[in-house]
Amino acid sequence: MIPIAKPLIGEEEKRAVLEVLSSGALAQGTKVKQFEENFAGYVGTKYAIATSSGTTALHAALLAAGIEKGDEVITTPFSFIATANAILYCGAKPVFADIDPKTFNIDAEKIEEKITKRTKAFLVVHLYGQSCSIDAIKEICEDHDLKLIEDACQAHGAEYRGRKVGSFGDCAVFSFYSTKNMTTGEGGMITTDDARIAEKARLLREHGSKLRYHDVLGYNYRMTDIAAAIGIEQLKKLDAMNHKRISNAKLLTRGIEKITGLETPYISPHAKHVFHQYTIRVREEYGISRDALVERLNKNGIGTLVYYPLPIHKQKLYKKLGYRDKLPMAEEAAKEVLSLPVHAGVSETEIRHIVASLSIE
Ligand SMILES: *Cc1c(COP(=O)(O)O)cnc(C)c1O
Repeated sequence: MIPIAKPLIGEEEKRAVLEVLSSGALAQGTKVKQFEENFAGYVGTKYAIATSSGTTALHAALLAAGIEKGDEVITTPFSFIATANAILYCGAKPVFADIDPKTFNIDAEKIEEKITKRTKAFLVVHLYGQSCSIDAIKEICEDHDLKLIEDACQAHGAEYRGRKVGSFGDCAVFSFYSTKNMTTGEGGMITTDDARIAEKARLLREHGSKLRYHDVLGYNYRMTDIAAAIGIEQLKKLDAMNHKRISNAKLLTRGIEKITGLETPYISPHAKHVFHQYTIRVREEYGISRDALVERLNKNGIGTLVYYPLPIHKQKLYKKLGYRDKLPMAEEAAKEVLSLPVHAGVSETEIRHIVASLSIE
């Protein structure tokens, strides 16, 4: 089976973990600090704060950016559920703006109409490894004096006009879950240039305590040194792993673009797309059914997944909360998208097998 995702763990990671285990200092310590410094340097921000997951990073980042009960945060309906849930954790309300059907990212032209007196921030996602139109969105933020937070959980190393994502907003978050472009098993990171956000995020991660006095309601969102040791090694390999994803994506596109009814990923001319997912659209009007295609690929030993079969506003939790939005572009995408293996562990022979399996009539 060619899995849809697979972490690439080498001897370096194993050695680094063993070293931490032998040291006896397993919890947050020097390795976390080192990983934070290296990650901030990579993204190009002054600060980085490691956490236990992308989800806890999102929660802490939103709180640190000042999101409170009653605030509205504009975000995309087409993402992993954690993006919107983190807004709920703060007692705030996610407000969904529809997506651009080409990039699957939030449509910069649909954001402004969603702004109300209660809007405090935009939480944008760089989906599948491609930056959203971050320049245009940043401008709208500045015009309306709103905060900008990037969910870069799928976009380690992605760029927009030559600048790394995670460095555009007031703050940004990354995930190191084991399916992401780099991993620590579970883990997350907040990046920011804002000293106050950085300090607040550090407090929230540690029960709200500085020097054992507890000033605010905090959490235990810490990363372990075991995880950080893996992260330090993974970060060194990130560019090479992304490079392999990009070249796999090119090969897939070369084969798939000839197949009627299948639409290959659009790459914005301003973006460096790092292909967390390689996601095609299956146009059923050409007589191809997505379900049948999935079945055929699985039979041929190829793992696939639909990211995401249901937009967030259509999920039961959100329906119960009263969401009745009509967001046609997100809803159509949910019916058509299909992700294929593109990760750094997929060989050229396997890519040819995937293309061949798609080509059979
Ligand atoms: C993976 C992911 C998250 C959550 O990260 P975890 O580390 O799994 O908590 C949040 N947002 C997006 C877009 C993701 O892909």
